[in-house]
Amino acid sequence: MLAGQALRPVRVLISELGPIIDTGQIKARVPVRQTGDEFEELTIRFNQALEKIESLIEGMRASLDNVAHDLRTPMTRLRGVAEMALQSEPNIESSREALSDCLEESSQVLQLLNMLMDISEVEAGSVKLDLQQVDILGLMNQVHELYRYVAEDKNIAVRIDIEEGICVLGDRNRLLQVMANLLDNALKYNRDGGTVDLAAARNGNQVVIQVTDTGIGIAPEDLANIWDRLYRGDKSRSQRGLGLGLSLVRAVVRAHKGTIEVFSEQSGGTRFVISLENAERHTS
Ligand code: ADP
Repeated sequence: MLAGQALRPVRVLISELGPIIDTGQIKARVPVRQTGDEFEELTIRFNQALEKIESLIEGMRASLDNVAHDLRTPMTRLRGVAEMALQSEPNIESSREALSDCLEESSQVLQLLNMLMDISEVEAGSVKLDLQQVDILGLMNQVHELYRYVAEDKNIAVRIDIEEGICVLGDRNRLLQVMANLLDNALKYNRDGGTVDLAAARNGNQVVIQVTDTGIGIAPEDLANIWDRLYRGDKSRSQRGLGLGLSLVRAVVRAHKGTIEVFSEQSGGTRFVISLENAERHTS
């Protein structure tokens, strides 16, 4: 009888959770009774788990909405071009032009889908990282070389302040992708005549890498969203882009068990700070 009484709160919890699980009403919560014991703690934990599930589902819904929205524009254009070509008088020149437009639109859709799949695979951990010692100065020099003409075109000075010999444990191609995306943004959202600073320094077991620009900055209300798939800040819409670069950057950094943070002031430039495992201690 005593055992039965002691388990009463558990039975109440089970009966309250039942309808929530059965109906999928993820917004519902179990009422918390302030008993000050483990059952109260358990109920609070259940509610926290429900909250987490709710925010994950909301996030997935928002991503799906964004994907649908971003696919609709090129697909509508593709259809329009094909329809017009079919309705007009047969003409080899205009047909070729229509086909080339269709090719361009479908390439854009494919690029978007490939990148979305790549991000999902990296996040799910199904992409195998080819871990090795990566020399950060070498990596930054390579990425700088890739963007040399873009920077010159915008009259932006890219400065590298990195000691020789600083290494992290990582997948070189993936880290190149991370740095390329960050430098691409730092140039794209910069002003004519601005600067970009690429820096790295050892910090115990970590290497801290910083990409700092003198660009347009990120509005406070955008800061939390820039990592979301397909999210683009209002001020950035005049620039080319899919809104996927930073989602990939964060997924790759996390796959390396690293962290990434952003600091930005509107019109005052932006700084991305990445922390990765220092690979030098593996060699010593
Ligand atoms: P994209 O650049 O294709 O829009 P990203 O995922 O790379 O997509 O970036 C998401 C958004 O974050 C951008 O649209 C922009 O608003 C903001 N952003 C990213 N990097 C910077 C930067 N260095 N300076 C200002 N805004 C930035």
